[in-house]
Amino acid sequence: MSIPAIPLNTGASIPQVGLGTWPLDDAQAADAVAAGIEVGYRHIDTATKYGNEAGVGDGIRRSGVPREELFVTTKLDGTFQGDDRAIDGLRAALERLGADYVDLLLIHWPLPQRDEYVSTWRTFEKLHADGLARAIGVSNFKPAHLDRLIAETSVVPAVNQIQISPAITRLEQRACDDTHGIVTQSWSPLGGGSGVRSLLAEPVIVAVAERLGRTPAQVVLRWHVQQGLVVIPKSSDPARLAENLDLFSFELSTDDMAALTTLDEGPDAGVDSDRSGH
Ligand code: NDP
Repeated sequence: MSIPAIPLNTGASIPQVGLGTWPLDDAQAADAVAAGIEVGYRHIDTATKYGNEAGVGDGIRRSGVPREELFVTTKLDGTFQGDDRAIDGLRAALERLGADYVDLLLIHWPLPQRDEYVSTWRTFEKLHADGLARAIGVSNFKPAHLDRLIAETSVVPAVNQIQISPAITRLEQRACDDTHGIVTQSWSPLGGGSGVRSLLAEPVIVAVAERLGRTPAQVVLRWHVQQGLVVIPKSSDPARLAENLDLFSFELSTDDMAALTTLDEGPDAGVDSDRSGH
């Protein structure tokens, strides 16, 4: 199965579908990553906060696929903000992964009340220059956080990973990412946790899925990729892993896209990253 590659501002590219790994523990992550790579995933999303980087590394080694054919993202949370703490944070993450570098390193949350994301980004710039992070990016950044980061530092983030689904469209954040040439990645693309069951049961999604002979999850993930978003659905089930990758042999019509957009709950839907995070 061929997965489109989306260009990053570093000159590298990111596979448009990746495998999410929260809330898997090491053993579960190793199994999911090995099974995912087996069915065609080449992009894995983890974070130090998930506590499963060692499992992700095991799964990668078990797959037998060379490291350089994979795109691996990790994220550093608030523990590693400020005072160059990200240097030790990334070194420890690499040790757990058993890797020499990550393809993408993200600031997990802006934590604006701490006011350390700009200095943390300067540390990320050093890690990028040293080659330990081939690309650097952010997660859960609003336009105000991004505008400040870009005004006060020298490297523009390659990626902003934010919560997006047909119910949480984040149009303003996506427009800001686009203006700066930042690739937007959707976390919880299927609605996340308990939200998945209700989103995938939405009559408008079920109707499109039945007409196209696809599953509701494929319709939702196709809605993302058809807009150029990068998705990282999590599954530990081999059949669903394959299902979530099979998004490029069908299309949603303009009417289908518009029908899914009726689920949009407005600009205040979802997690507010001015008040949340870790
Ligand atoms: P998702 O929207 O990916 O939903 C995952 C859930 O959907 C799981 O319960 C999974 O169960 C189920 N599922 C997966 N595929 C299907 C399918 N085809 N049909 C029916 N159910 C399905 O939510 P997540 O919150 O996991 O988000 C994805 C990833 O994003 C995370 O794993 C993590 O890597 C990242 N993330 C990043 C955040 C950030 O702050 N940057 C915050 C939250 C997540 P099963 O395993 O049984 O298939």
